[in-house]
Amino acid sequence: MLEKITVAGVSVDTRHWIGGKRVASGDTFTDTSPIDGSVIGEVARGGPAEAEAAIAAAREAFPGWAATSRAERARILHAIADGVEKRIEELAIVETTDNGALLRSHRRGVMPRVAHNFRFFADWLLTLGHEDFETRGHTNQVSWDPAGPCVLITPWNAPLMLATWKVAPALAAGDTVVLKPAEWSPLTASLLVDIAAEAGLPAGVLNVVQGYGSEIGDALTSHPDVRRISFTGSVPTAKRIAASAATNLTPLSLELGGKSPLLVFADADLDLAVDLAVEQYDNAGQVCLAGTRLLVEETIVEEFTRRFVAKAGELRQGDPRDEATDIGPNIHPRQLEKIDGFVRRAVEGGARAVIGGRRLDGQYYAPTLLTDVAQDSEIVQEEVFGPVLTLQTFADEDEAVRLANDTRFGLAATLATGDPERAERVTARLVAGTVWVNCFFVRDLQAPFGGSRQSGVGREGGTWSFDFYCDLKNTVTAPEGWSQSHG
Ligand code: NAD
Repeated sequence: MLEKITVAGVSVDTRHWIGGKRVASGDTFTDTSPIDGSVIGEVARGGPAEAEAAIAAAREAFPGWAATSRAERARILHAIADGVEKRIEELAIVETTDNGALLRSHRRGVMPRVAHNFRFFADWLLTLGHEDFETRGHTNQVSWDPAGPCVLITPWNAPLMLATWKVAPALAAGDTVVLKPAEWSPLTASLLVDIAAEAGLPAGVLNVVQGYGSEIGDALTSHPDVRRISFTGSVPTAKRIAASAATNLTPLSLELGGKSPLLVFADADLDLAVDLAVEQYDNAGQVCLAGTRLLVEETIVEEFTRRFVAKAGELRQGDPRDEATDIGPNIHPRQLEKIDGFVRRAVEGGARAVIGGRRLDGQYYAPTLLTDVAQDSEIVQEEVFGPVLTLQTFADEDEAVRLANDTRFGLAATLATGDPERAERVTARLVAGTVWVNCFFVRDLQAPFGGSRQSGVGREGGTWSFDFYCDLKNTVTAPEGWSQSHG
C-alpha cells in the first residue's frame, strides 16, 4: 500500500495514527472522489486489532494529559488552531476532493470554524468554574475531572467540522481520543493529526483509526476502557452503537438525523422565506439540520411556489471547486441510488415533482421539490439526505405545529413569520433542539446543540460539552474541628 498519497498537490498519509506513529493495516479500502468518481487512493482498513491498539495508546496517554495544567492544554489547542489556519487552503481542497462539498465554503466558512472549535473550547476551559457552596458549615467544591479515553465516530457530510466539534472539547477536558472518521471521507482527519503533532500534542492523546464502521465499530464501542462515546451519524448506526456501548454502560452522546420543518406563515417576508427554503439545498441536501419539509400557509402557497421555482432555477450545479457553483455532487453512487429510490417511490405513490425528480450525469441529483405528499408517506417521514424537499400546506397555526411535530425526529425547525408573538407561540410548541426564526444555520458554540426524540441524545456546546466529557465530582469538606458524632 502507498503510505502517502498526493491529493490536489497535498501530501496525505493514509495510514492510522496510533500512539504518535503511523501504522499500516494488512488490508486497505479505496477512497474515491464524488466530483468525478475517480480513485483518490487506498486507505488503511482497520479492524479489532487497530481498535485495541488505539484504545491502549489513549489509555496510556491519559494520566499525563489529564494531569497537564488547563493553561497548557489551552495553549496546545490554540497552537492546533494556528496550524489549521496556516493550512486552510490545503484542508479545503482535500476535503472538497474527498467529499464533494463546495471549495468556497470550505475555504471561507468551514475550515476557519474548525480552527475556531479549538480556540473556543480552549478559552471555555479556562472559564470553567468551581461552583462552591456551603452546607451547615461544610464546603462543597465541584470539580470537572477528565473522564478518560473517548471514542469519537463521525460522518462524511462535514468531516473535519463535525470531528473537531468533538475532538476539541474532549482534549480540552483532559480526555484522550480515538477518532474514527467516515470511510467515504477519511482524509482530513489524517491532516489534523499532522497539525496536532506539530502543535506539540503528546503522542497517544489523539489517535485516528480508519476503516468501515461495520468492521472496526464494535471493537471501539464495546471496549471496557472507553469512558465516553460521541457519535454523529444515522439513527440505525446509533442504535447499534447504543447496544454495543450498553455492554459497559459507557455514556453516549448521539447527534443524529432529522426531517426538520420550515414553516412559512402568510405574514412572512416572502423573499426571505424563499431564500431560506432554497438554502435547504446546500451541500447537495446533505445537511442533518436541513429544513426539508416546507410547510406553507395555504393562502400564499401559489406565490411562494412561483418564487421558489424561479429562485431554485438560478442555482448553478457543477464542479464544487468552481467558485460559481452552488450545488456539488452527492457523496457516493450508493447515496445517489438511495436518493433516487426515495423520489421514485414518492412519485409512484402520487407525489408530483414541481422541479427536479431525476438523476443528472455523474454523481449529481437535480434539486427536487415534491408536492401532493401524504403526511404519513415515506418521503415526509424519512430522512433522504439529498437535494429533495417536500411541500405541504397548512390552514392555521394549530395545523402547522401538528404537521411540524409529526415525525420521529426533533433536530431543528425554521420559522418565517413577520409576527414576533406568533414566533414565540409556535416555537414554544415545536419539538426541536434548535429553532431558527427568520434565519437559518446561525450557530454559536456557546449554545446547546443536539436533537430531541430520535434526532439524538444529549447536547453539545459550551458547558454542555464539558458536562459530557468530564466526570463531575463534588468534594464536601468539614469545617475545622468538626465532630461527625455530634454533627
Ligand atoms: P452512518 O451512521 O452511516 O455513519 C457514521 C459513522 O458511523 C461512520 O464513521 C461509519 O463508519 C460509522 N459506523 C457505521 N457502522 C458502525 C458501527 N456498527 N459501529 C460504529 N461505527 C459505525 O452515517 P453517515 O451516512 O456517515 O452520515 C449521515 C447521517 O449523519 C445522517 O443521518 C445525518 O443526518 C447525520 N448527521 C447528523 C448530524 C447532527 O449533528 N445531528 C450532523 C451531520 C450528520
